[in-house]
Amino acid sequence: MRSGNLAGRLTLFTEGGAVDVERASGGRFDADPQAVYARWAEFVEWAATAPVDSAVAFDAAELGPPAPRPAQVFAIGLNYRDHAAEAGLALPDAPVVFTKFVSSFAGPEGEIVLTGPTVDWEVELVAVIGTAARNVPVERGWEHIAGLTVGQDVSDRTVQSAGPAPQFSLAKSFPGFSPTGPWLVTPDAFADPDDIALGCSIDGESVQKGRTSDLVFSVPQLVAELSAALQLQPGDVIFTGTPAGVGMGRNPKRFLAAGQRLDTFIEGIGEMHHRFVSPA
Ligand code: ZN
Repeated sequence: MRSGNLAGRLTLFTEGGAVDVERASGGRFDADPQAVYARWAEFVEWAATAPVDSAVAFDAAELGPPAPRPAQVFAIGLNYRDHAAEAGLALPDAPVVFTKFVSSFAGPEGEIVLTGPTVDWEVELVAVIGTAARNVPVERGWEHIAGLTVGQDVSDRTVQSAGPAPQFSLAKSFPGFSPTGPWLVTPDAFADPDDIALGCSIDGESVQKGRTSDLVFSVPQLVAELSAALQLQPGDVIFTGTPAGVGMGRNPKRFLAAGQRLDTFIEGIGEMHHRFVSPA
């Protein structure tokens, strides 16, 4: 099942196009895309038999983040072996956790304003929580995931490395630096939700290509580790980390320039397309 945010309204995406959930459900579900996660199991059940004959063509430019206003946002650093190696850092024993502030959220299409000469790309699988989780064992981790979407953890490396300790949260939270979409796909739609291809390209040149089977901490492991410390809430968002191929890890280093197009894909979900522009 694919659901998400079209022009700020909760939408079901079918073969035929977009179905407005508030209208198709006769008002049973609110139009707010964030509100649905509090009633996720009920929504999935309704979606299975939803009247989809009202599906219409839609403009991809109107797609927004599938979870636009989560109570909590988690982002995981050094979560692929090859990325930790290119960063010259040891593999962590426990997840390295920071946040991406919600004001940086954006949809899967559009422009992103560069904040300087060292803005970098990071394709990431993004998981959204479907039911509250506290002290969840790994083997039950997937039960708490509503679905998966495509994300970019856009990062200003100069801001990130200024000062005595890494400024991950600030450097990765400039406006537009946390795009997700094009929609959320439920875990049951994947042949193996623990082994999904992901990658991104700049002006058509592939720069990152990986598989989530190489995650150091898998999605269910992240649910277990995070829920051991705090309560995960329905609608919370987890950026799960990036594989190798970021610009900072290259020799010479390489960063995004005005006019360049960044295309991001995850197998079984879809693509995002962004263009980088200079500040006005
Ligand atoms: Zn990242």
